[in-house]
Amino acid sequence: MHVELFLCANFFSKISLLLQLMSLDILLNSSQLAPELKSIAQKVAEQQPISNEDCLYLYQHAPLSYLGTLANSVRERLHGNKTFFNRNFHLEPTNVCIYTCTFCSYSRLIKKRSEGWEYTLEEMLNLVKKYDHEPVTEVHIVGGVLPQYDLKFYEDLFRAIKAHRPDLHVKALTPVEFHYIFKKAKVSYREGLERLIKAGLDSIPGGGAEIFHPEIRDQIAGGKCTGAEWIELHKIAHELGLRTNATMLYGHIEKYEHRVHHLDWLRNLQEQTKGFQTFIPLKFRNQNNELSHLKEVSVVEDLRNYAISRIYLHNFDHIKAYWPMIGRNVAQLSLAFGVDDLDGTIDDTTKIYSMAGAEEQNPALSTLELVKLIRQVGRQPIERDTLYNVMNDYTQQDPPAPTPTQGFIALPVVQ
Ligand code: SF4
Repeated sequence: MHVELFLCANFFSKISLLLQLMSLDILLNSSQLAPELKSIAQKVAEQQPISNEDCLYLYQHAPLSYLGTLANSVRERLHGNKTFFNRNFHLEPTNVCIYTCTFCSYSRLIKKRSEGWEYTLEEMLNLVKKYDHEPVTEVHIVGGVLPQYDLKFYEDLFRAIKAHRPDLHVKALTPVEFHYIFKKAKVSYREGLERLIKAGLDSIPGGGAEIFHPEIRDQIAGGKCTGAEWIELHKIAHELGLRTNATMLYGHIEKYEHRVHHLDWLRNLQEQTKGFQTFIPLKFRNQNNELSHLKEVSVVEDLRNYAISRIYLHNFDHIKAYWPMIGRNVAQLSLAFGVDDLDGTIDDTTKIYSMAGAEEQNPALSTLELVKLIRQVGRQPIERDTLYNVMNDYTQQDPPAPTPTQGFIALPVVQ
């Protein structure tokens, strides 16, 4: 199938509708299906987890239409046509970083420090204040790793945000930052997390996971926390009552076996703690980084990966597409391949993907536009808060028009 076809909006709508009309019964009764695929479909129909071997088989052999039908059956069993989004904004303290992940287009090394940004606590709080009259429910805080952004800095920042706007949900930092700041402060993961929860930390995003397998992680993200440490941090966070998300960076030097290994670790931890909310596959983009010589994977591969994630991670409630990374059209299409949640930012407040060559260089979408995008492919737009409590159902009614104050907040961009 030609990628050009995927760029046609009508085609998106038609293929989405087609996939929604196909049923699991058709698959189960098909005489042309390979026995392995039939057996996997049977397990999914009976709500049994599929094995790691099944997962690898899907990656290696399953056709797109089969994966779409199967993933969509899981998605619709769990959520029907509901498609979630939330209103958040991103706060990135710095893009200077002590690490040198080869896939990263975002960070500026210490030696190029002058090209980056380093916000003070006051500057960050001023950015939060710009949203005072906006109906946002969450601030998402991640960025580079630098010594001055230590445990005390984040305690002070979270306290300041909560003092200013107590109802704003603080979803912040990844095990990469936690590992560094806790080590520096000579506290355990548990003690450090307890201190940050006390200061206002409400939940943890899914970043920093990349690929857990050391064979790959050491090559693309050597030096930062290991896959096992990432899992350990989330385990403790779950034990302390925090809900967290998980990601996987795919489409670079990893093999399908590494993706299965990654998903296996996530599913196992979820089996123990039930603390994950959402899984977010992140596509490797090849601009401005040390892996620029690698070709990016196709849209078909993106959709296959969403679908396999939905099928394999039976114990995760949600699969999310990060629309600024893949573009709005593919995001629409992903809703027929297992995705039930679209990352919804109202302003261009993150540069992490636009600097890597993502589809959306200025990822701003008003709530009304996002709602229309979801409705266009026959789904129900549901605004949620971070913990998936329903805030508004926009199936029938439109959200209020954007206020004149809504728009871009200029953040520094390193060219
Ligand atoms: S991915 Fe994160 S930890 Fe790695 S270099 Fe970029 S900002 Fe630093």
